[in-house]
Amino acid sequence: MRASRFFISTLKEAPSDAEIVSHKLMMRAGMIKRLGSGIYTYMPMGLRVIRKVEAIVREEMNRSGAVELLMPVVQPAELWQETGRWDKMGAELMRVKDRHGRDFAIQPTSEEVVTDVARTELRSYKQLPVNFYHIQTKFRDERRPRFGLMRGREFTMKDAYSFDRDLDGLKKSYQIMYDAYVRIFTRFGLQFRAVAADNGAIGGSGSHEFHVIAATGEDALVYCPTSDYAANMEAAEAIAVDTSRAAAKEALQKTATPGKAKCEAVAELLQLPLQRTVKSIVLAVDNEEDASKKQIWLLLLRGDHELNEVKAGKIAGLGGYRFANEAEIVESFGTPPGYLGPIGTKKPVKVVADRTVANMSDFVCGANEADFHYTGVNWGRDLPEPEVADIRNVVEGDASPDGKGVLAIQRGIEVGHVFQLGTAYSEAMKATYLDENGKPQALMMGCYGIGVTRILGAAIEQNFDDKGIIWPASLAPFAVVLCPMGYDRSEAVKAEIDKLYAELQNAGVDVILDDRGERPGAMFADWELIGVPHRIVIGDRGLKDGQIEYQGRRDTAATAVPLQEALSFIQ
Ligand code: ATP
Ligand code: MG
Ligand code: MG
Ligand code: MG
Repeated sequence: MRASRFFISTLKEAPSDAEIVSHKLMMRAGMIKRLGSGIYTYMPMGLRVIRKVEAIVREEMNRSGAVELLMPVVQPAELWQETGRWDKMGAELMRVKDRHGRDFAIQPTSEEVVTDVARTELRSYKQLPVNFYHIQTKFRDERRPRFGLMRGREFTMKDAYSFDRDLDGLKKSYQIMYDAYVRIFTRFGLQFRAVAADNGAIGGSGSHEFHVIAATGEDALVYCPTSDYAANMEAAEAIAVDTSRAAAKEALQKTATPGKAKCEAVAELLQLPLQRTVKSIVLAVDNEEDASKKQIWLLLLRGDHELNEVKAGKIAGLGGYRFANEAEIVESFGTPPGYLGPIGTKKPVKVVADRTVANMSDFVCGANEADFHYTGVNWGRDLPEPEVADIRNVVEGDASPDGKGVLAIQRGIEVGHVFQLGTAYSEAMKATYLDENGKPQALMMGCYGIGVTRILGAAIEQNFDDKGIIWPASLAPFAVVLCPMGYDRSEAVKAEIDKLYAELQNAGVDVILDDRGERPGAMFADWELIGVPHRIVIGDRGLKDGQIEYQGRRDTAATAVPLQEALSFIQ
């Protein structure tokens, strides 16, 4: 490609609505152009990167045995009504009407359509398993589109759907996709982590998200550096909720008496395998005298969770304060209990860990370090199922649920998601196959998404410097840029660089020759901003000694290279 015939449009400043690095750099590098909120034109430079992402995805999907088709963007509402998603999806689902007043959805994913394909095309167990995928435009009317391609409304997704005879088959198809995703994200050259995600539909390890690690990521990932445990925050908390529910119930069954015993029951909770660094617990219990009221119990513990180490005098031997009202709290702590929520009402007290609580860390008894609270624990006198609501914040240093170390937390950008769907869609849409006995069975489904356009943002969040983007080789719009010093002035330069350009092209290298006649400073700044991995500069001065200059995008200085070695140097 010759730069003079390509389209390059760079900016010194990013538009003011660009908040994060990737958005700013993509705008400055002329990769995307905003058309409306969350809607972008993929400009030629950006589109080249998207095509690289797609090519890798497509290659690995095909290698895994998945079959490509292409389902429509505009889909009849009837299909969406069959599964109930027409109503369930709410405002995120973009709806349009045709000239006859018929309703359509603009696809946010394609479960309905692919299930419709399956119910008409897949008749026999002999046709299974099969995995259909497409790379297609999606539309989600996101509440907060932002960060450029990261959370767009219109975006490109690869979505795949597997069909199996039974759960065993699904688990195999799922594993094949999981492995393909590992290959895909490895080939992108990105640092990523697969984490367990919550899967309400089937349970177990039925869902994983793939995250690119980046400080600006919207998701918190919980993992154990010394074992394989990794989950997104919701899934990690779900485990915590489950464990503590069971433990709370068990602890409560040992005691029906309020007061000290209940506090001790709570203390027992803290001996969970998770070993959270809880330092305080707020819970609501029924008022013994007046069932219409709640009492607030505040149990303050030190980091080691040992009740007898709690310093405050009033706690000695008891393990907890008993607060009947707000005044008592103010009296004891000198701080209004704004964080305690409504007291004396029938509503379960919902205590949200906030700054007020975090600021309590310098109280004698200490409060939770990292906003960790059990909240809304609501135990009635006759011990119904304990309701452990709103357990928040699995924190760094907690024991890993697998018992093999402590947990660490990092932030990630969700770039892929694999999910065992089960038969929810096939049952709703009556998509069956005939088994060996000629009996109809619901198709067992899995779905697998990759955010193709989001990958660009995620890759940049992980790879940039003050000059611009640093594309991993596999995603770069061009692998090499050739920069002539005086293309129109020096015949020697023109001859040598044209020759090298042809050689690189013949060798199948994605090369761009910058023949725009820009000054060297501006030319270099452009390519550094765009993030091309290799740069070769050819000028008269070097040519005298038979040399050219090579600089890798991460190199701090150029290296002189003999002209004859230029080709081998790049490869
Ligand atoms: P998120 O949690 O970021 O909203 P999601 O869980 O809703 O994503 P999925 O339904 O799992 O997304 O879709 C599969 C993939 O599509 C996601 O892993 C993500 O990479 C990508 N994706 C989802 N929403 C968007 C969006 N608004 N813009 C760009 N990519 C998106
Ligand atoms: Mg979403
Ligand atoms: Mg998500
Ligand atoms: Mg998801």
